[in-house]
Amino acid sequence: MVSKKLFRNHPESESKTRMKYRTILLFGAPGAGKGTQGKILGMIPNFFHCACGDVFRNLTIDSKIGRVFIDYSSRGELVPDQPTIDLWRQSIEGVTQAGRFRPEQDTLVLDGIPRNVHQAEMLRETLEVIGIFYLRCTNLDNLVQRMQRRALKENRLDDASLEVIRNRLKTYEKDTKPVLNFYGKHLVHRIDADQTPAKVLFDILRHVVKVPKNGE
Ligand code: ADP
Repeated sequence: MVSKKLFRNHPESESKTRMKYRTILLFGAPGAGKGTQGKILGMIPNFFHCACGDVFRNLTIDSKIGRVFIDYSSRGELVPDQPTIDLWRQSIEGVTQAGRFRPEQDTLVLDGIPRNVHQAEMLRETLEVIGIFYLRCTNLDNLVQRMQRRALKENRLDDASLEVIRNRLKTYEKDTKPVLNFYGKHLVHRIDADQTPAKVLFDILRHVVKVPKNGE
C-alpha cells in the first residue's frame, strides 16, 4: 500500500507529477505580429493560443491587478513577475476547466510570456517548450507604424505615445531577448517578420506541420 505519509513528507511531489503543458512560444518585439499569428494558429484544431497581454486587457479596472496593469503598461514597463505568473496560471486553469484548452491533446501557443528570464524560471516546471518562433523585424519604422495603427483600432493606450513605444522596445531588448538564450538555440526558428502576414504564417506553418500530435 502506498503510504499517504510519503506525500505529506514531500509536498513538492504534487507539482512534480503534474503534466507540463506542451508549448510553442511566439517571440519577438512589440508589434512584430505575434498576436496576429497566434490568433490564426489558435484556430487550428489541437492548438490553443494564449496572449498574456489579452489576459491583462480582459481585467476590469476595479480589480487591484487591473490597476497595476494600467500603471505599468501605460509607462511601457513589465508588470511585476509574481502577479503576472499568478494571473496567467489562473487564466490557463480557467480555460482548462471550461474545456477550451485540453492539455492532454492540445499544444499551447504562448505569446507575450515568459517575458524575462525570471518568468521563464518560474514556469520551468509548467511548460515543456518544444519550439520558439522568433519573429524578427529589422525595420524599426515598420514596428512603430504597426503599433500606432493598432492604437486606435484596438483602443490601446500603450500604442498611442511614441515615448511609451520606445520604452517598450527598450524593455524588450534588455529583459525579453535573454529568454532566447535561456531555452537555447536548438529550439529557435527565426522568421522574417517584415514580410506580409500570409508569408509569415507560411514560414511558421512549415515548421508547425512537423510537430507531432500531443502524445505521439
Ligand atoms: P506588446 O507585445 O505589443 O507590447 P502585449 O499585449 O504583449 O503587447 O503587452 C502589453 C503590456 O502588457 C506590456 O507592455 C506589459 O506591461 C504587460 N505584459 C504583457 N505580458 C506580460 C508579461 N509576461 N510580464 C509582464 N508584463 C506583461
